[in-house]
Amino acid sequence: MNHKPKILILGAGESGIGAALLAAGKGFDVFVSDNGNIKENFKNQLIANNIAFEEGGHGQNILSGIDEIIKSPGIPENVHLVAEARSKGIPVISEIEFASRFTSSKKICITGSNGKTTTTSLIQHMLKHAGMDSCAAGNIGNSFASEVLKKEYEYFSLELSSFQLDGIKDFRADIAILLNITPDHLDRYDNDFSKYAASKMRIIQNQRKEDSFIWCVDDEKSREIIQHSRLHQQVYKISLHEKGHEGAWLDGNKIVFNIKGEKYTMTIEELALQGKHNIYNSMAAGISGSLIGLRKESIKESLSSFENITHRLEFVANIHGIEFINDSKATNINSAWWALENQSKPVIWIAGGIDKGNDYTKLYEVVKSNVKALVCLGLDNELLIDAFKDIIPVIIEAQSAEEAVNQAYYLANKNDVVLLSPACASFDLFENYEDRGNQFKNAVKAL
Ligand code: ADP
Repeated sequence: MNHKPKILILGAGESGIGAALLAAGKGFDVFVSDNGNIKENFKNQLIANNIAFEEGGHGQNILSGIDEIIKSPGIPENVHLVAEARSKGIPVISEIEFASRFTSSKKICITGSNGKTTTTSLIQHMLKHAGMDSCAAGNIGNSFASEVLKKEYEYFSLELSSFQLDGIKDFRADIAILLNITPDHLDRYDNDFSKYAASKMRIIQNQRKEDSFIWCVDDEKSREIIQHSRLHQQVYKISLHEKGHEGAWLDGNKIVFNIKGEKYTMTIEELALQGKHNIYNSMAAGISGSLIGLRKESIKESLSSFENITHRLEFVANIHGIEFINDSKATNINSAWWALENQSKPVIWIAGGIDKGNDYTKLYEVVKSNVKALVCLGLDNELLIDAFKDIIPVIIEAQSAEEAVNQAYYLANKNDVVLLSPACASFDLFENYEDRGNQFKNAVKAL
């Protein structure tokens, strides 16, 4: 009798369930184990597909007879079970590695510390606009595995986090996009920025010479790494400052696309997504469109018609000349920097939450020139207050979105902006960044 390979899936969230369904569908012997509680709808899917599972802890001898482990991105590398598996020589891979074995769809893969979701959605919009059979998946929407199980798409627009990239072996991106590398999630990388950066660079692992790599020359860390790397694939650069390369650059208010001998331009005013950081995202999307042969008219139309996704520099309302912007997804220093840099009016800045080891000095310059008051929205605001007490004239504290909005409204004058761009995670006072953004929007609407 043939031995059915035995797969252990650690973690039963979106990616674990996707991997379980795909593995079961492909005839593997699957067991799912989660040391927390599994959500009801996920459990029902496992039961409906006759997939064995356990929750609330891992059973003894769980590794016995296991051929391969699919580890969910949320589980750190250093948990005991993973370390034990590795010491026993059991391969530990990520769900995207596993799923990639069962599809021949072309994969446009997007990573970076900030801008992944925006760029992935923009590319998906562009592919749909051009009539392609495509799907956005990965760290966005449904897991890659569950989409691979559904059908063979022509293209995937795949958002990939560093944790997903950590578990790849043979996974290969047809087009790889690296938007930027700035400090984030360092708690999972021994507080070592270069380890986190190395994870991001895995986006080009296994690329062949005919594959493409799009990266941002203006990003310091990417430049530092890439100038010491020998790249054999097709390379395209994006920049607001350097000009004349294969890829895209800015010339005055015009983006110049220059890909394989074809040149076309569009003005930054024509872009649907405003803000300097979104010029990079739009450049990366446009280049991918050209690389897969979309017409330049179609690319330009989609870069103009995309509707912004919520919680990213989202305009909420203008009340008596005071503008309210929801950038709740700005959970690290770099994304908050772009949001602040982008403002041309005086800012009442709402920030705070769970500090992930932030270096606030990186914001000093932009804060000095743009911020007139800070409303700290967190359970413990000490670090934030300490960092800005000599720089921002007015600092107050709030313990709810409603209180923060009311305080900010009180402090603001006509022609000011109230900007929620927290630079911190949200779990102290909110369920997640969406909940924080929604509560902010509701409070603004209630004014
Ligand atoms: P991710 O999926 O990588 O977390 P998002 O697209 O959800 O990125 O955006 C997260 C935050 O980063 C938002 O505040 C957004 O305005 C900001 N942002 C978007 N694109 C970029 C970029 N290219 N560089 C820096 N910040 C960006």
